[in-house]
Amino acid sequence: MSAPSIGGVQVARGNGATIRLPRGASLSDFADRIGANPASLVQIMLHLGEMVTATQSVNEETLQLLGAELDYDIQVVSPEEEDRELLEAFDIEFGEDEGDEADLAARPPVVTVMGHVDHGKTRLLDAIRNTNVVSREAGGITQHIGAYQVAAEHEGQERKITFIDTPGHEAFTAMRARGAKSTDIAVLVVAADDGVKPQTIEALNHAQAADVPVVVAVNKIDKEGADPNKVRAQLTEYGLVAEEYGGSTLFVDISAKNGIGIESLLEAILLTADAELDLRANPTMDAQGIAIEAHLDKGRGPVATVLVQRGTLRVGDSIVCGEAFGRVRAMLDDTGEPVDEATPSRPVLVMGLTAVPSAGDNFIVVTDDRMARQIAQQRAARKRSAEMAKSSRRRTLEELFSDLEKGRVDELKLIIKGDVSGSVEALEDALLKIDVGDEVRLRVLHRAVGAITEYDVNLAVADDNAVIIGFNVRPEPRARDLAEREGVDIRYYSVIYQAIEEIEAALKGMLKPEFEEVQMGTAEVREVFKVPKIGNVAGTLVRSGVIVRNSKARVIRDGVVIADNLTVSSLRRFKDDATEVREGFECGIGVGYNDIRIDDVIETFEMREKPRV
Ligand code: GDP
Repeated sequence: MSAPSIGGVQVARGNGATIRLPRGASLSDFADRIGANPASLVQIMLHLGEMVTATQSVNEETLQLLGAELDYDIQVVSPEEEDRELLEAFDIEFGEDEGDEADLAARPPVVTVMGHVDHGKTRLLDAIRNTNVVSREAGGITQHIGAYQVAAEHEGQERKITFIDTPGHEAFTAMRARGAKSTDIAVLVVAADDGVKPQTIEALNHAQAADVPVVVAVNKIDKEGADPNKVRAQLTEYGLVAEEYGGSTLFVDISAKNGIGIESLLEAILLTADAELDLRANPTMDAQGIAIEAHLDKGRGPVATVLVQRGTLRVGDSIVCGEAFGRVRAMLDDTGEPVDEATPSRPVLVMGLTAVPSAGDNFIVVTDDRMARQIAQQRAARKRSAEMAKSSRRRTLEELFSDLEKGRVDELKLIIKGDVSGSVEALEDALLKIDVGDEVRLRVLHRAVGAITEYDVNLAVADDNAVIIGFNVRPEPRARDLAEREGVDIRYYSVIYQAIEEIEAALKGMLKPEFEEVQMGTAEVREVFKVPKIGNVAGTLVRSGVIVRNSKARVIRDGVVIADNLTVSSLRRFKDDATEVREGFECGIGVGYNDIRIDDVIETFEMREKPRV
């Protein structure tokens, strides 16, 4: 199977040459790289059994298939790599401190609290925040912005520690999955009265996989039955050996409830940081970091809590954060106080972005607004084509034909937009749990925080039949117009269960009707007549039920179906046409089957739709 011979299409083979393509590339992009005509690639794909247009974003599988056919080594660039290349084009390097050793200054550790449910993570985060009012003005009201900073005395020095305020390893892992490293040290909370539990191990695995040192907080030592040493013993099995047992992991007994051991825990965190990590960053460069939480605030617009990882973030800076950009209008710290600048490891709430970024998106201070906008727009465009590629399912010709035949719709595609990331995720989770059997699937093409935009509508159009769900959000005026023009279905909800109910109903409505065969009548062949132009017609006696003209029929001989998919095309009582003939009467039946014989049985039936339960 050499490419040039495929359907007579002439395309030069690659002889193993490597070509790099972004996710969501189209056949046109492919053609560009190899100097071929896109139409010929479309034709080759057709011969390979896939219908793809030249400009459509295709998935990696399709690119690989075409690459293999033409003998090219296809490398689909990962999202992180793609982004790095994009930033390089703007002369930006993300993740590196500028300058040399002399430019680096110590920065506070960033800590995530993990552990089994109910072991006291939330309580501990509250306790740490409350016992440490050192850096806070008296009476300051705490604001949950997703992270906070406390100060601790360590070897006579005041040191700061940053805590990520969302307990659990889910957020940590979600960010890591996106290539963002948010955490320096993990505090593993284990309740002394309950011991090591499945999620304790899970959390530990996540920390170890991320190469993050662990400090163990043995909590609830105030409780009766608390056995802190048992926790130490249990964790040795998982490679965490307490210092007092000759290992290197610090275990601290605490009671989050009574505020016992909190200072020691902070000290253990600093000791671990000093012993195992070199936490330094260049505070003088343009700031870089990651978004750890973001939402749409009714009064303030998009707000994002960012963690500065290097450099100093200042009010007035032009920043780009994921696909959002803007100029920092104001910053607040975790006490709700305005701040003018934020140095490494400091979390701040940033206002002034044009859109809501996602947790784990990186943020970068750039030279000016224009550059910020360009980067954001290019990222958005890439994401769009990647999403379209993801949603473009491979369709073979066979599938295409059988789909046409059956007229099937087997997937409800959704685009979910909501006011806060929590509700979007909750809604998505709930919807994906709806189960109406295997025949109909639900697929979420895109989910995000914020108003319904033209992008969402375009995505719905591109993937015909996608429905947009607005949870406490409305479309932008232009998106609304576009949706009307294109006939895109937008549904609004403010209560999750209502959304679930309606989508479930929609899914049920999409279920293909199931038909069952209902027998109507049988007739025994007594004679066979030859009728000019019509062919052989059977003279019959109706044995059961009723024979109705135009109903479906089959011919049975000696109990075996010898002809099926027939139709009662003519029905006569003596010389007259009849519409139906009942049991016990004689009639002439024509079913368009010539080889009909005496003693054959004609069975008629109809297909009835089965009601769904
Ligand atoms: P999470 O699921 O890990 O965030 O656990 P929580 O912080 O919500 O705590 C679970 C329960 O344990 C709550 O009822 C807390 O009040 C309780 N709790 C947490 N820490 C302690 C503690 O040190 N001592 C006691 N007795 N109860 C605690």
